[in-house]
Amino acid sequence: MSEVHTKLESIQAAERKLLLQTYQRTPLLFVGGSGVYLRDELGQEYLDLLSGIGVSALGYAHPAIEAAIATQSRKLLHTSNLFYHEHTAELALRLTEISGLDRVFFCNSGTEAWEAALKLARAHAGLLRAEGRKIGTRFLAVEQSFHGRTVGAVATTHKEKYRAPFEPVMPGVEFVRFDDVEDLRAKFSNEVCGVCIEAVQGEGGIRPVSREFFAAARELCNSTGALLLADEIQSGLGRTGEWFAYQHYGVLPDIATLAKPLANGLPMGAMLCTEEAARAFAPGMHGTTFGGGPLVCAVAIAVIDTMKQTDVLSHVRSVGGYFKERLEYLRRRHDCVTAVRGMGLMLGLELGSEDLATHAAAGMMERRIIVNRTSETVLRFLPPYILEREHVDRAIAALDEVLAKLGSKSTALAGAVPAGEDSHG
Ligand SMILES: *Cc1c(COP(=O)(O)O)cnc(C)c1O
Repeated sequence: MSEVHTKLESIQAAERKLLLQTYQRTPLLFVGGSGVYLRDELGQEYLDLLSGIGVSALGYAHPAIEAAIATQSRKLLHTSNLFYHEHTAELALRLTEISGLDRVFFCNSGTEAWEAALKLARAHAGLLRAEGRKIGTRFLAVEQSFHGRTVGAVATTHKEKYRAPFEPVMPGVEFVRFDDVEDLRAKFSNEVCGVCIEAVQGEGGIRPVSREFFAAARELCNSTGALLLADEIQSGLGRTGEWFAYQHYGVLPDIATLAKPLANGLPMGAMLCTEEAARAFAPGMHGTTFGGGPLVCAVAIAVIDTMKQTDVLSHVRSVGGYFKERLEYLRRRHDCVTAVRGMGLMLGLELGSEDLATHAAAGMMERRIIVNRTSETVLRFLPPYILEREHVDRAIAALDEVLAKLGSKSTALAGAVPAGEDSHG
């Protein structure tokens, strides 16, 4: 057994010496993938219910994605934003059509999209002040929120562990209790330039916000000219069964951020906004060297076109609905399951304790099914959109077995693969 793991072990040893120790990786070395399966160095297949934290939405080795990468890689990889290339406008058109928003700024990651959103909200308030309106520079964000790792993004991220070591971070952020409309109304004033919301919190434990809360945020922003910022980095681009999670609510934000599934694994982010908000950025005020390059744009176009051609949204609604129903079935069968939440293929199963969630994720990993634990007690499912019912059935059968074992407590999960700590999304 030991010699077959030499490659993983030598990589682990090298990483321990050479890398900043920011991640607690699960000891698996993946070398390939196909459809909803990842393959390790020994050729063993894993059913992937996480898709690299909601990124590989069309799964692995998708022919349309491979073709887009191959074609574009032979033509041109980079131009910088000093020049035009043929795919920027094509992709922006698609994104504005599906979002209901007017304009797009491209970047390279989620946190960068969020950072652009914060800067735009500040600049927009500045513009309104110059026009004689009374509006300040503060932000409201929601408890349990996650918006990224850069200094502006961590300032709006609720978890202490992500923010406290880096203080002072961007000042002027106050947190509102999740779904507490009264708290939102009490903390909102014309000092606020932006309200930050995830329609469905991801890292916070797969928590859809209530209609009342989202609508109240929209109405408060309308009353002063503040912007409503929807972070759709995890929930956007089909994950919940609509192109954007805010579309379930009938609320249009002023800004929406996208990233994870946008280029199916190549790094890419986007900030979308209204014409009104877009007025605040003049040439030179914001920019990026790599953002919106020809390769990632070509791939994102392939992602969106493939999703449209194969009606992926209905598939996500149908398989996601079935998955959630089967998770409800598990909740009825096992006392240790305390809640089932989510929409489409963004689902969470809450367990009674952190320990249970850790062991459940490890138990699934032993059965070669990849799930992730987030917000301490929640098993998170962000599978590729191409998941089928037969995969759900296999996952549910495995989970049933794992939960039964944990529930009975008589069988310790000896030799379980450590699940690692919370995700690092
Ligand atoms: C993952 C995530 C981010 C950060 O994206 P990165 O690409 O890791 O910078 C921000 N907001 C939400 C809601 C996310 O899920």
